[in-house]
Amino acid sequence: MFLRVKIWTFPACYSFSMFFVAVLLMGAASLFGLAADAITDDKSKVVQEIKFSPVYCFNTGLEKLIVRPDFIGCVIGEDHPLGESEITEGTERPTDINPQVLARFQSAQAAAKAEGIEMSIDSGYRTIQRQEYLFNRAIKEHNSVEEAIKWVLPGEISRHPWGLALDINLHHEKTGASWLEANGATFGLCRVYENEWWHFEPLVAPGGICPPLKPDASQVK
Ligand SMILES: [Zn+2]
Repeated sequence: MFLRVKIWTFPACYSFSMFFVAVLLMGAASLFGLAADAITDDKSKVVQEIKFSPVYCFNTGLEKLIVRPDFIGCVIGEDHPLGESEITEGTERPTDINPQVLARFQSAQAAAKAEGIEMSIDSGYRTIQRQEYLFNRAIKEHNSVEEAIKWVLPGEISRHPWGLALDINLHHEKTGASWLEANGATFGLCRVYENEWWHFEPLVAPGGICPPLKPDASQVK
């Protein structure tokens, strides 16, 4: 009798022990799994937060600058994009101001207006012929090409015929141009020359940092 009990008891105890060990191991594994999931979730959240970059758009309905994530971008029919880098000459001669330069100006103009400051494009796009006329007139006024070129560039070199240069408030209050000099980088517009407080170009991406001023237009590349 004693032997029979002993023979049956030992394997039974062993089986139960193994059962509890197995349950404990499963529990530990599931806890570890949950913890691992939590870590993975945290990592993917961080990756998602870092992943998108801002896209700058002039919203025509609100008439102001709005910033959208790059996975949405500017909305066709509602926004005009400001572009995401310096704007340079294209391959074809335009017939008006570059649309992204105009969107930059309109965004800046709206922000200035909200602070009670008026801003206008007193001269933007010019034909090459018009630029040549202004250059020749400057030569007569200054009595030399070397002096004239500090103020007016020839038609083939100036960025006005490319629709990439804006003369702001040249015939209006200088405060508008001063505001743009202080705040234009937000919209990707920079004052370029020390001797022309009114002349701005899209030298950086919106939100960038404008380069130092050049002494005058004769320093152009
Ligand atoms: Zn100019």
